[in-house]
Amino acid sequence: MTEPAVTESTVIVDQFGRRLRNLRISVTDRCNLRCNYCMPEEEYAWLPREDILSFEEIGQLVDVFVELGVDKVRLTGGEPLLRKDLSRLVAMLAARPGLGDLAMTTNGVLLAEHAPALRRAGLGRVTVSLDTLRPERFQALTRRDTHARVLEGIAAVRAAGWPGLKIDTVVIRGVNDDELVDLIEYGATVSAEVRFIEYMDVGGATQWSMDRVVSRREMLVRLAERYGPIEPIVEETSAPAERFRLIDGRVFGIISSTTAPFCRACDRSRLTADGLWYLCLYAARGTDLRKPLRTGASREELLALIRSTWQGRRDRGAEERLATPGRSPLMQIGELKRDPHLEMHTRGG
Ligand code: SF4
Repeated sequence: MTEPAVTESTVIVDQFGRRLRNLRISVTDRCNLRCNYCMPEEEYAWLPREDILSFEEIGQLVDVFVELGVDKVRLTGGEPLLRKDLSRLVAMLAARPGLGDLAMTTNGVLLAEHAPALRRAGLGRVTVSLDTLRPERFQALTRRDTHARVLEGIAAVRAAGWPGLKIDTVVIRGVNDDELVDLIEYGATVSAEVRFIEYMDVGGATQWSMDRVVSRREMLVRLAERYGPIEPIVEETSAPAERFRLIDGRVFGIISSTTAPFCRACDRSRLTADGLWYLCLYAARGTDLRKPLRTGASREELLALIRSTWQGRRDRGAEERLATPGRSPLMQIGELKRDPHLEMHTRGG
């Protein structure tokens, strides 16, 4: 991939001066796990199949986003590897000039079988979600018996010598908060940087409560008890994770969206599999890009729509949630059933 070709004239900023830069593309709303912090229900309303964007449509939109400054794309789901022939989309996007970083977040269940093709297609980096190292706990948390396959997927990334592997762990009190040290140790054995994510009160997290959140501060205290002094790494970045270094040089991250949000630097937006564009994880509504795309909007019209939408952006959802007294789950089940776009698994986490 070539370096981004963004010039002063193409950089656009929102109402708080934040650049449009980082696009998360959900390629399917389906998932093969049922993690209880994300998909606790038995039944879900799925996006209509005919609404799902084709790879060519995704490519058309990516071209427009790149022209407006996006240089990082992350493929998400649902579980992105459930989308048939995903490596074809990866190859299409990897060939786009201007896209500097092409990554994917996966739950890892299907990763071992797809890793070689994805690497060949040009996928730059992989992040695997893994909340526990204990198979019985994984089964209780996800309602599926595929823990060993996730570990095989991680091993396949390592065996391929693929750099940049990350492991994302949502930390929930009373569920897996006793595994922080174990996960850091495991990460070292598979050459992965572990990132601990505070449990968030997003759509789908209908069982969320503040007392189940393990804060960044508490995680650091617990890790310091085991490892000694922990040094924050100072970096100029809009990445959501703050990174820390242990005394032995190992690095890990914490994403503290719940107790210490970072909206002021947020350059992320999300495209759902059916082409709705959300400017914030917490946004109630998205902008429909599928309809103009399918009714023949010109490139200039799409550019104008995306540009003006971003320029009007005032979202800072996590900061507003932090200021909400008596914080409780963001959405109730009835609202989620009426509009699946409100679900975290639809908008790609
Ligand atoms: S809550 Fe919204 S604005 Fe804040 S960091 Fe997350 S996506 Fe960005």
